[in-house]
Amino acid sequence: MKILLVEDHGPMRTMIADHLVEQGFAVEATAHANDALAAVEGIEYDAIILDLGLPDLDGMEFLRRLRGGSRTDTPVLILTARDSLEDRVSGLNAGADDYVVKPFNLKELEARLRAVLRRPGPRRGRVYAYGAVTFDTVSREARVNETPLDLTRRETALLEELLRSPGHVIPKDSLEDRLYALDDAGSPNALEAAVSRLRKKLLAAKAELRIETKRGIGYRLIQGEV
Ligand code: CA
Repeated sequence: MKILLVEDHGPMRTMIADHLVEQGFAVEATAHANDALAAVEGIEYDAIILDLGLPDLDGMEFLRRLRGGSRTDTPVLILTARDSLEDRVSGLNAGADDYVVKPFNLKELEARLRAVLRRPGPRRGRVYAYGAVTFDTVSREARVNETPLDLTRRETALLEELLRSPGHVIPKDSLEDRLYALDDAGSPNALEAAVSRLRKKLLAAKAELRIETKRGIGYRLIQGEV
């Protein structure tokens, strides 16, 4: 799940981004509404977390431009210190999906985010199914025939990236980017090590999936026993 965070307060931005990355989300963060508007032109995010008080453009104006453009259905969760009824109503009228009033706790923010991601819609949470594996992008749980797979955050992120384009080779670079976003202790062999552990777990769980190595290029997920 790819989240765009628009928050101009540096420590707040870092705190939210770190928490969400720890929970397995891919997060891009910016302090400026104009940067965020440029970003959504190129990338389809699963959700946007939007602070209303921004230096370059009011968050509400950002929301109007977003909804008036091509991203009419990307879920938006508003962050604001403006605790008035009027602001809540105008935010929701302008197309926000939910509201979190500062100060909030990170668990509450995360729960609200998962709730908007779960709502039905074309880009809301989804369940991938391939071989005997299902993966719920919101709960971050992978199952083989209804039995949960016990995966680390790295293995989960890797499986999600492979499941996005099953049968296609995913370049090593993009897999590494995703894994290194989880923590900065990315050793040169971190990807190979995660692939090897995930392979063993998929095999042990009889997932009917295997990860094929395209030497020097990347990996792909294919159906069938090893
Ligand atoms: Ca602000």
